[in-house]
Amino acid sequence: MKHNQFAVIGLGRFGSSLALTLAKQGCHVLGVDDNEEIVNDMANKLTHAVMANATDEEALRAIGVRNFDVIVVAIGTDIEASIFATILLKELGAKYVVAKALSELHGRVLSKIGADKVVYPERDMGTRVANQLVSPNLLDIIELSKDYSVAELSVPPRLSGYTIKDLDPRKKYGCSIVAINKKSGVVIAPQATDLINEGDIMVIIGTNDQIESFEKEVLD
Ligand code: ATP
Repeated sequence: MKHNQFAVIGLGRFGSSLALTLAKQGCHVLGVDDNEEIVNDMANKLTHAVMANATDEEALRAIGVRNFDVIVVAIGTDIEASIFATILLKELGAKYVVAKALSELHGRVLSKIGADKVVYPERDMGTRVANQLVSPNLLDIIELSKDYSVAELSVPPRLSGYTIKDLDPRKKYGCSIVAINKKSGVVIAPQATDLINEGDIMVIIGTNDQIESFEKEVLD
């Protein structure tokens, strides 16, 4: 079932971007921050915005934490506040708490005290930008596990007009093209005879080594 009721606690750069994106997608979003100016700025952009200190148990109780499908603790720099807020939310019966961590150790603490998911936006964005700088054809990569990923790779001009069979990534590298995103629409599970063209984006699944070999040997 799709989640629709969200609360985002801490409306800094990460929290506000997350909250605004959810709101744009039609979700109900409550934003919480202890900075009045920030709350006023966000008030008409989200479903609700309230000023509250996330380490104050009564204030959290008042927002009715059980009513949300997901609560995101987007406080970072104030590690103590991020930890207290996460503990209190779980104690008050929050269904699913996503907490932002600034470091590996911070993340380990958040997991131990009950965060259902820990995210590392700075670390992950650093990795993503580095990957794109080293391999310009690599538009995005999502890690499925330590070894497996799904990658989006752009088709360079010189491969325009090739078929999937010409590239044959499954046979040559062990990874599979699961979709091609074209201007005209997305082709799911493309056939061997399907054509790729400049500007298309191939979605590839495989081990990190397989994707890297395909990217280096075929697209570079
Ligand atoms: P970002 O990088 O997303 O801007 P950050 O990691 O630097 O954020 P902070 O500056 O600590 O994190 O906090 C982000 C937001 O959370 C700020 O808008 C801040 O006002 C708010 N905030 C911090 N502590 C609390 C708290 N105890 N209760 C409610 N809001 C808080």
